[in-house]
Amino acid sequence: MKRCLFPGSFDPFTKGHEAIVVQALELFDEVVIGIGINSKKTGLFTIDKKLAHLSALYNHEARIKVTTFQKLTVAFCKEMECTHIVRGLRDTKDFEYEKSIGHMNRAISGIETVFFLTALEHSALNSSIIREMYQNGADISSFVTNPDLLV
Ligand code: ADP
Repeated sequence: MKRCLFPGSFDPFTKGHEAIVVQALELFDEVVIGIGINSKKTGLFTIDKKLAHLSALYNHEARIKVTTFQKLTVAFCKEMECTHIVRGLRDTKDFEYEKSIGHMNRAISGIETVFFLTALEHSALNSSIIREMYQNGADISSFVTNPDLLV
């Protein structure tokens, strides 16, 4: 049984994130989606909304578990008995950022990070731009599945 942790702020969880979960399921038997709770960075959508949104999305998926966490990602990874952390890459900016975190996580815990290259059609999908659009009343349903569950 191979289980991975896909951690993130998911503010909100986009179709780009969704595609990473599909890619992870090709390598792992189970994916734990961990919504990080950061007391210093509250985000636009509440943890309850994010949890409801993701739970509805993956309710019937036996291989996907949705949960929140408020500790070091590697500590949560071990707690959930996940062997690897999964992250998504869109561009060199993501790579530089993820590389540093991946190195530090491996240094402190031995846990490896697996990176999946985003699908071409999702390479411009960015939660912060979607937040901006949402706050200004734009329709975000092309980029987020079931956005009504976030309201
Ligand atoms: P964090 O604040 O932890 O970076 P995010 O929710 O912004 O959380 O992103 C979680 C992960 O998903 C990161 O690895 C990020 O690079 C990746 N990601 C974000 N958007 C996309 C996308 N459109 N396609 C692929 N991966 C993405």
